[in-house]
Amino acid sequence: MFIDTHLHLEKRWLKDDAHRQLAIDDINKNKIITWAVTSDIPAYKKTLEYAKQSKYIFPCFGVLPWYAHEYVDRFDEIAKLCEEAIMLGEIGLDEKYAKEKACIPHQKPMFKIFLKEAEKNNKIMNLHFRGKERESFEIIKSYKIKKPIFHGYSGDIDLMKELNDEGYYYTIGQRYNQERLLLIPDDLLLLEIDVLPTENFKVPSEVFLDMLERYAKIKKITPEELEAINQKNVLRLIGDDPNLSEMKKLIQ
Ligand SMILES: [Zn+2]
Repeated sequence: MFIDTHLHLEKRWLKDDAHRQLAIDDINKNKIITWAVTSDIPAYKKTLEYAKQSKYIFPCFGVLPWYAHEYVDRFDEIAKLCEEAIMLGEIGLDEKYAKEKACIPHQKPMFKIFLKEAEKNNKIMNLHFRGKERESFEIIKSYKIKKPIFHGYSGDIDLMKELNDEGYYYTIGQRYNQERLLLIPDDLLLLEIDVLPTENFKVPSEVFLDMLERYAKIKKITPEELEAINQKNVLRLIGDDPNLSEMKKLIQ
């Protein structure tokens, strides 16, 4: 079964409504379990609506660190939405690609709201860290977070050994670095589409199949074996979470 652990259905990344509909239809037709991550409150609310069209779409609540300054007065609302959400993401810390520097001082305080909720209710976190991966790793460790997922990890190679020792997961997307890919243990590897191509649009099933073929070749296994690795890891992550029992049923 195809399981995409990080996809943006939201307008910011999938601008064309017709493309979004094609994507949702494809998810239904091919029964692709899809973790629909979001990057702010309006996107999350929209994504809850999109999810009504498919039992395979599972929305995750997140506010990207780039928008932290826009939410300083709404941290209570964020905490409430965190509590209601079945999974958290896309969230984290990122000064490197922050277009507006105003977000920087507010990133950590906002991120801590998500960390508290993940710690309290053992939630899955889809994490975006760009730059300062070491510091981010130390923060995660200090919170006793059990299900962090490093989305598209691009930090130091040296730090990967420590991430692996902690049992932290990685998602790899459409153009993941080969050297890093080979350092990810099979039992910590997850697949993600992230963003569907805008030009030369492709539906999720096509993109996912391309990824399976590309990365299976690099890992010298079959696409089916890679698909099974991804599925097994997802089942381990969701296994003890009563909020995700519907997903578990769909996979088993
Ligand atoms: Zn993303």
